[in-house]
Amino acid sequence: MHTPPKDAAARRAVAPVICYPVEALPQPDLTLLRTARKRMVKTDEVLIPARQARCFNAKAGQFFRISCPDGPQVGDLNIWNANNLAERFYSGKTRALHGTHLSTGCRMWSSFPNLRPLATITHDTLDWYGIDEFGGSVHDVIGTRCDPYTNNLLSGGQYHHCCHSNLTRALAEETGMALAEAEQHVHDVLNVFMCTGFTRDTGQYFMKASPVRQGDFLEFFAEVDVLGALSACPGGDCGSEHSSDTAQCHPLLVEVFTLESGALKGWVPPVPNGYDRSHGAGG
Ligand SMILES: [Zn+2]
Repeated sequence: MHTPPKDAAARRAVAPVICYPVEALPQPDLTLLRTARKRMVKTDEVLIPARQARCFNAKAGQFFRISCPDGPQVGDLNIWNANNLAERFYSGKTRALHGTHLSTGCRMWSSFPNLRPLATITHDTLDWYGIDEFGGSVHDVIGTRCDPYTNNLLSGGQYHHCCHSNLTRALAEETGMALAEAEQHVHDVLNVFMCTGFTRDTGQYFMKASPVRQGDFLEFFAEVDVLGALSACPGGDCGSEHSSDTAQCHPLLVEVFTLESGALKGWVPPVPNGYDRSHGAGG
């Protein structure tokens, strides 16, 4: 360990600068969406059994809602442009734009070169939680997803119901792809209902029992035709451990809602990003 320089305190005291001022982003019309959702009608639902994943579809202009119908349960969410699976949720850039945890008004941005909102969060019954004394908050985009490879590294075991594997099986079943092909489309998730943060002393990723209770939900507006996959994490409320069958687990529910025609008057679907993709070629 090196000796701190004489001006170490002054260097540490430099004030931070927000990397991406969120005010510069194209803003969702939350007033329009709040008005529209009051009269939406449920048109589909998918129940996700404990320690499993299932796919669901929401057309552009529909809402989808993830809820805990039973007991506290964390969900790992993947979403794609249903018409082009190469365009998928970009957890890292979403984190850079909105912060470590998402709530109402945040958007789920898609991968390059499109970088546009796939979905916008319109309602969050856990928005009261904020950031707790440990630095924890809910609905994170910092964890990646529990997976059998990390589990194997740490424990040497073969566990098949990590969210990564659940999502892989669900996508394979939905699309008819082989498992190995489907796995290539599985990506870093939005950890729905999960309560996480980084420890203040060592900067390590931590989880704690989710504050979610029966009836809580997180709701989204589909900005494009969305194919979603949701895994009911084997960690249950993620208060103790995941990547095993130890934790008590519960199902999750996805409900899809449709609006009456004309309810989205003034809404404009997001277009692909405006960068010309020449990357400076030709000088
Ligand atoms: Zn998981």
